[in-house]
Amino acid sequence: MIKTVPFSKDELEKLLRLHPTPLYIYDEQGIRQTAQRLLKAFSWSPEFKEYFAVKATPNHHILSILKDEGCGADCSSLAELLLAERIGLSKEDVMFTSNDTPAGEYIKAKALGAIINLDAFEDIAFLEEHAGLPEMLSFRYNPGPVRDGNVIIGKPEEAKFGMTHGQLIEAYRVASAKGVKRFGLHTMVASNERQVEYFVETARMLFDIVREVRDELGITIELVNFGGGIGIPYRPEDKEVDIEALAMSVKNLYESYQLAPLKLAMECGRYITGPHGYLVSRVRHLKETYRKYVGLDATMANLMRPGMYGAYHHITVLGKENAPTDEIYDVVGSLCENNDKFAIERKLPHMELDDVIVIHDAGAHGHAMGFNYNGKLRSAEFLMKPDQSFTMIRRAETMEDLFATLVD
Ligand SMILES: *Cc1c(COP(=O)(O)O)cnc(C)c1O
Repeated sequence: MIKTVPFSKDELEKLLRLHPTPLYIYDEQGIRQTAQRLLKAFSWSPEFKEYFAVKATPNHHILSILKDEGCGADCSSLAELLLAERIGLSKEDVMFTSNDTPAGEYIKAKALGAIINLDAFEDIAFLEEHAGLPEMLSFRYNPGPVRDGNVIIGKPEEAKFGMTHGQLIEAYRVASAKGVKRFGLHTMVASNERQVEYFVETARMLFDIVREVRDELGITIELVNFGGGIGIPYRPEDKEVDIEALAMSVKNLYESYQLAPLKLAMECGRYITGPHGYLVSRVRHLKETYRKYVGLDATMANLMRPGMYGAYHHITVLGKENAPTDEIYDVVGSLCENNDKFAIERKLPHMELDDVIVIHDAGAHGHAMGFNYNGKLRSAEFLMKPDQSFTMIRRAETMEDLFATLVD
């Protein structure tokens, strides 16, 4: 897939005359279309819900757009619950999937009427003590060393999330005995996964539990949330997930298990906003030692995925889209950390000072994972509207913001 940017050089330069780089741009139309595509693929499923993972792009303007498309919010902290509340999401449009949870967050989630998804068997007693048990509860499953020779799911036993099979069954029994009336089931064991079979196997594993809980305990699970984690093609040679095929395979399975009217949900973040966010930066310095370096005005503090995971993010040099990529550069920021690199030995066109660089697929887990190391300020965020105009949806931090918490 050829990676292009949705804005023209002229439009972007107009924005950059008014606002300093680095900055983030989100493409509203792209986000809407991806949300619509996911919802349409699952439209066969009664009341299918996408709970957008707020942590991926925690800006209420983005959440509002997704609410408008019919998505709910998957929240994992107090701040994320407050963002969902701010745009008018509540009740079962919010799912609260936290871990190691403070009592106050359960109290807030319960007050909002969110579906609380417990990470641990031990949390039942904690929730009961601090917030009281709600009418509906969901539980997060960790399948552990994979059962039934399922090789696709990886190594969940190394993940801190969720409860074991034995604990899960006991959780339904205990919660039901304590008066909980309605039940959900959840798992999330992969991230940035582009294999359709992975999600189908995850659904199968959860459908088996739904049956087991019905047959053994006589309890009906009404909602299965099979997580987020749908991957995106970060590299030009990567394939997109065939979301329609994924949904059809899950449909076939759902029908063969005769599960209707069981509701299904997902909680994708990256899939929805990842491809539609761009980090825009400018070349500040060029340097040549044992390698050639392009020094940007953005750093790993603006986008930590390359530095932290060695993640690939495609780079477009504005106005040089068709120039031959016949030079090799490390593209770096100004942090005093050698992993502050956006790209290592990347083939790029000949670079010059002040070139504008667009870093692709930064719409999820990008700005959100930003930090202030070395006193770097977090950047502004802009929304590109369907008419191609730009609206600021978060201002850039100032030195005053940075120093605001220092005590005299
Ligand atoms: C991070 C997370 C998500 C979203 O993951 P994506 O890779 O952005 O889809 C969904 N659910 C839970 C519980 C998560 O922790």
